[in-house]
Amino acid sequence: MALGEFALIDQYFSRIGARRSDVLLGVGDDGAILAPPAGMDLVAVADMLVEGRHFPKGSPARSIGHRVLAVNLSDIAAMGATPAWALLSISMPAVDERWLAEFAAGFSALAEAHGVALVGGDTTAGPLTLNVQVMGFVPQGAGLRRAGGRPGDWLCVSGTLGDAAAALVLGDQASTALRARFEFPTPRLALGQRLQGLASSCIDVSDGLLGDLGKLAQASGCRAELELSSLPRSAALREAVSSGLCTPAQAEQFMLAGGDDYELLFTLPADLSGLQSEALRAAFASGEITRIGRLIEGDPSSIDLLVDGQRKAVQPEGYDHFRSISA
Ligand code: ADP
Ligand code: MG
Repeated sequence: MALGEFALIDQYFSRIGARRSDVLLGVGDDGAILAPPAGMDLVAVADMLVEGRHFPKGSPARSIGHRVLAVNLSDIAAMGATPAWALLSISMPAVDERWLAEFAAGFSALAEAHGVALVGGDTTAGPLTLNVQVMGFVPQGAGLRRAGGRPGDWLCVSGTLGDAAAALVLGDQASTALRARFEFPTPRLALGQRLQGLASSCIDVSDGLLGDLGKLAQASGCRAELELSSLPRSAALREAVSSGLCTPAQAEQFMLAGGDDYELLFTLPADLSGLQSEALRAAFASGEITRIGRLIEGDPSSIDLLVDGQRKAVQPEGYDHFRSISA
């Protein structure tokens, strides 16, 4: 590599993200030394982005830097945890300093915004692939899980669905607002933390609503009932339909099965859902979260979709990497 591996790490990755007093030793040694707080459980996640599979070839480097951290922070959010430390491993075909500076800027801005320190990683030559691990904390026993939903619980989702999928499919025709949802997704960390002690189960929507709902239903041992008309759609997605860029049926498909939303999908015990919880009442009222269905007794392996009062059993068709590789 032109710049030299160590000079490169020093220049781009030794001083990015938040500074934290619990990082006793950061980038530059064989390993980081970290001081976990007492009374907390450690939550660890990892997620990898491969060029051509998770983002189109030629995607802006700043977006890739943001996304590779954001997808991990979304998993941390789904656990109800607060992020603290990240490790970043990069495989790249050549040293492109402009690309690296942009990538590091995208990563660093999001890391700083959420108090995440970059404490180590690995750098090697190879096809463009980014892997990040994040560690965070949750009070002992308070981590949110996919299991725990019960029949009668409300099924809720944050934000809006289908925007990132629309951006990918529409390509250059996609509005700036849709593109931003793919390129700079917002991990719902504050919401995840607020759901501690309230949500009975939680997952983040990364592979499409139906697929991730199928995982939550399976883990909770309940069947999910989803009301199509209640799915939250953004002004940008409505605009894409009303201007003829996509059909209403395509927009529904983006919301149900498109990936890369990075919203939280969670269940609330029915007695908690509406009025008891002041914090959540405001979130429902503002559209930060929306009720989209409920859990019911029954076979979790398919989902009941309610369309115009009709009940249809649908398969949880999430985006399946291995199925599409072999296709
Ligand atoms: P080793 O050979 O002992 O694994 P390296 O020489 O690969 O160590 O890495 C030196 C230091 O740089 C380590 O602290 C490592 O965690 C860190 N590092 C390497 N690549 C990255 C990266 N892309 N981002 C952040 N830290 C990195
Ligand atoms: Mg070593």
